[in-house]
Amino acid sequence: MNVQRFTSIIQHELAPLVFLSIICYPCGGDSLDEFRYDGTNQIRKTQRKQAMTKAIWKACQLLVIICIILPFAICSCKDNTLEPSETDHSSLESTNDIDDILPPPPSSDIVYIPNTNLPSNLSEDDNLVPYDGDVEHIFFHEVIAYPQLAFDGDSDSQGYDDYMVTASEYLKILYSLYESNFILINMNDVWSEEIDANGRARMVKNTLMLPEGKLPIIISFDDLSFYEYMEDDGFMSKYIIGDDGDIWASGIDPDGNFVKSQDLAAITILDKFIREHPDFSLNGAKGCIAFTGYQGILGYRTQYDRNNDTADTQLFRMHEIARVQPIIEKLKETGWYFACHSYGHIDLSKSSYDTVKADADRWMDEVGSLVGETQIFLYPYGSRLDGNDVSNTGAAFRYYHQLGFRLYASVGYEPFSQIKSDISAVICDRMNVDGIAFATGGGNYTRFYNVAEIRDPLRPTR
Ligand SMILES: [Zn+2]
Repeated sequence: MNVQRFTSIIQHELAPLVFLSIICYPCGGDSLDEFRYDGTNQIRKTQRKQAMTKAIWKACQLLVIICIILPFAICSCKDNTLEPSETDHSSLESTNDIDDILPPPPSSDIVYIPNTNLPSNLSEDDNLVPYDGDVEHIFFHEVIAYPQLAFDGDSDSQGYDDYMVTASEYLKILYSLYESNFILINMNDVWSEEIDANGRARMVKNTLMLPEGKLPIIISFDDLSFYEYMEDDGFMSKYIIGDDGDIWASGIDPDGNFVKSQDLAAITILDKFIREHPDFSLNGAKGCIAFTGYQGILGYRTQYDRNNDTADTQLFRMHEIARVQPIIEKLKETGWYFACHSYGHIDLSKSSYDTVKADADRWMDEVGSLVGETQIFLYPYGSRLDGNDVSNTGAAFRYYHQLGFRLYASVGYEPFSQIKSDISAVICDRMNVDGIAFATGGGNYTRFYNVAEIRDPLRPTR
């Protein structure tokens, strides 16, 4: 029992009883009733004497009790009049010090909170400074492991020359970015969703906290599925988990030998580069991988074959899903994250609402179910759902938004981004790094690399 409770009992429950006892004491029933019915004076005198002694003794007891109670009563009274109790909020609300009690209002600047759930790789020497400038975003496709096979003059060669880079070019570009003080960040950390003053969810740009002198860059990768048309054209054929627990890529070299390597595919080259240069990544962030679904992901044919739906094809599909799942988990553990690239690599600006919806549903069912939730949508062909009008939010865009997508990236030559005002979403651009950019990108890319220094001599001349 605390002191307040004790004094309260004394004050409200015992004190009135004591007071009553004092008032009633002289006419205490036991002694007077004895005198009234006694027969002899002597006995009466003796009894009166005994009664007087008893009364004096009791008065002394009362005095002692009052001396104990009084200080408590005064103390309790003082507490209740001068200081609020812990639960008495009315007196707090009436003061002008309410701002000292409530938590501070949210700041308009949203400061970067790492999203990768990985341990910080920053040392105590790193001086983190706020960064509110543009965030660069470049993207690649799967890299060419053996250029002599990709550029062999067959019908696919032009496409590889246009849209791919070789493993050697890719590694040199990573070095160049690193040398130019870029640091990889997670795209999910650049914007956050907040409730605005009108109670509506809207995206806001975060203030990044970066090591001093570093420039943030996002790297994304499209179509890491090892599509069937790429077989025998100089690419690895799938990602695997090696005996060491790391991710490797496997495939067939130009001599027909089985190869397992970490130097010939986009994911493993970046993993290895960051192992060797950990300060190229903020908190272990790697790349954003955008999947379609029509020929599975990462080299595993996880798609549901509607035209050949037999027990065998279903069993094969389940087998492929079981094989790719540990790779997805390993990627997530090591800083990679995922995006939607539509299921069928469709041109969204030319597709009807029903087509877009069916495609999105299938992606969620067959790919989203494997990679987990994502808010990033990287447009196939850079072709936007809103018809290149940021103020135009149509039904198809709203459908994707309903599925949880907030960050929509197209293709451009600048680090463009715009927060939509009518719905919680961000429209942004990515810069393609490929043969077309090498040939026509000009000065837009010099902040990343010098084409003359990184271009693979095995690439055809234009
Ligand atoms: Zn694509």
